[in-house]
Amino acid sequence: MTVTARIREVAPPITAAPETESMALTVHDLVTEFRTRSGPLRAVDGVSFAVPRGGVLAVIGESGSGKSAMLRSIIGINPPSARIEGRVQLGHRDLLAMSPRERRRTRGREISMVFQDPLTALDPVYTVERQLTETIRKQDPGIGRGQAVARALELLELVQIPSAAARLKAYPSELSGGMRQRVVIAMAIAGRPSVILADEPTTALDVTVQARMMRLFREVQSEVGSGLVIVTHDLGVAAELADDVAVMYAGRLVEHGTADEVLTRPAHPYTEGLIEANVRPGQDRRPNAIPGAPPSLRRLPPGCAFAPRCRYAVADCWAGQPSAATVAGDHWSRCLLVPAAEREPS
Ligand code: SF4
Repeated sequence: MTVTARIREVAPPITAAPETESMALTVHDLVTEFRTRSGPLRAVDGVSFAVPRGGVLAVIGESGSGKSAMLRSIIGINPPSARIEGRVQLGHRDLLAMSPRERRRTRGREISMVFQDPLTALDPVYTVERQLTETIRKQDPGIGRGQAVARALELLELVQIPSAAARLKAYPSELSGGMRQRVVIAMAIAGRPSVILADEPTTALDVTVQARMMRLFREVQSEVGSGLVIVTHDLGVAAELADDVAVMYAGRLVEHGTADEVLTRPAHPYTEGLIEANVRPGQDRRPNAIPGAPPSLRRLPPGCAFAPRCRYAVADCWAGQPSAATVAGDHWSRCLLVPAAEREPS
């Protein structure tokens, strides 16, 4: 049997994200293209997914796969020269169809973002109290100053900052990296947004603080009831935190399913490579888990973008981009060799 004969196509197309009332965020066929001197660069290419209220989606992949550009397109902070297409729905409202003013009003109240480096989100010249109360009053203009301070204190306690009252008076430079990131999380949840986006939120922190911080993030997010999309290169974080995992390569999602399915029964060779390359304390790295480097988004190979690095590649892989095929239930993969069980290393 040829590899193409093994494809199990699904109808309707499984790249169409479900659109239901229960979804906090629905992204449909999102495209982000940057104009560059050497021509257009498509950083995000037809990405679709949905995150329910209270749910967590982890997006994994190497640097340069388009993960951050995708988050920035969703919240609307890419440079104005970026061309963005598709639909980004908060409930039933399409963020991409809103005016810039309407869109700005959703930030913080309905959708917020936690960046990798807390220092980019905090202003070094203002105290934590000033920055938190400003955020709170922006979300809720009717609130009095005293109430805003009380709410800021509550938020610091929610993110488990010790001696919260004293920390309110501190400047960001007087806090540890972990505490600064807790303040940033407090700011992100201040407006009780229905969606939180997080771009490698613990990467800048000490390894011992990372796991604690991620657990806290999950606790706080589920208490607020937001849908969370977290971009991470750390598969341990994805396994611990996420309900679903999406794998991104060269601007496209190549695999999607529950965290358990994707991380224990990967159906795309790229996911398999990421898992093999994920070094855990006390383990030796497998240096050739994924040979080569991600392709330039300006010069993608024909067919499957992963083909030049794929140990299972066959001639058909170069013929055209593989469409998504169901592995089991909601688990799908864009690989001609689905299901994974049928693949053997060449
Ligand atoms: Fe699958 Fe072929 Fe792409 Fe490898 S090159 S991921 S076998 S479609």
